[in-house]
Amino acid sequence: MPHFVTPAQVAWKVADEAYLWDRVEEAFANVEDSGIGERSASLSYFRMIEAEATTREQSEVFAIAEWLELEVIPGELGLDLSPDSLGAEVLTSCAEVGRRLGYDLSAKTRVAFLAAEADAPWATAPYGYCVDKYPYEKICLPYHLLGRPRERRQAVAHEYAHVVSINLSQGHAPNWLGEAVSVLSEGQFDPRAERLFSEGRWPWREPAKLEGMFDVTHGDPETVWRAYQQAGLIGRYLAESMGEKGLGDLLRTLGSEGLFAQLVGRLLGRTRTDLALRRHCGIGERELFANTLQWIRR
Ligand SMILES: [Zn+2]
Repeated sequence: MPHFVTPAQVAWKVADEAYLWDRVEEAFANVEDSGIGERSASLSYFRMIEAEATTREQSEVFAIAEWLELEVIPGELGLDLSPDSLGAEVLTSCAEVGRRLGYDLSAKTRVAFLAAEADAPWATAPYGYCVDKYPYEKICLPYHLLGRPRERRQAVAHEYAHVVSINLSQGHAPNWLGEAVSVLSEGQFDPRAERLFSEGRWPWREPAKLEGMFDVTHGDPETVWRAYQQAGLIGRYLAESMGEKGLGDLLRTLGSEGLFAQLVGRLLGRTRTDLALRRHCGIGERELFANTLQWIRR
């Protein structure tokens, strides 16, 4: 069979590279015409590029700290906010998460509030998302948060905790652990969760099962919500047993797992996270999940 590459595939390859470097207008220009085409499964990715590019056309970037930038459309800020006051608030939220997890705030980070016109019902993650880009980690937050201070601070804390997880674990934290740290940092918990999980009315998932349940774009919203709540409870249990700084240390252990240990782990059929947990707190993934369920049933 002849191997050939379609113009759309080339366009997407160029777009991927540009997006990774946050040249979002260039990324969008490349796929705007070919459209989602062969990537029809990636409609949400296309929309992310579009939203970030639309924002870039109108935004300004403000240096908030040596490691932190704010990208915002000044004309979209309400009367209660200025780039300075919003920047100060974002800085406080991020620094607080860093302090709690024992992280030195070394990763360059850009927090972008997306354009109002990108705040459509299709918006992929209602409370924002974090992308591991170059030369910075990028946190994107929807426009509607500009009018909701409490939710805004929670969303910044949640997404910045992802920056911390990614950097301390060198990108090795599984989804469930990343969300455990982020939901814990955000501090917003569904008051029904403990009871419904305890009573078995919400199924308590095994690690491998939970791992695949954070798909905000394709998953059933209720299932995704429960997955976040389960992760949040695991985060609280970990913080209760080892302290929040201990949780930061666990992420560091995960990032520094040596090749030999990984090889042994693979032979034993254990994940990298399982190994790091055993090394750090003497229990594996499955015990951690079981212990958390015991703990909420206390
Ligand atoms: Zn998250």
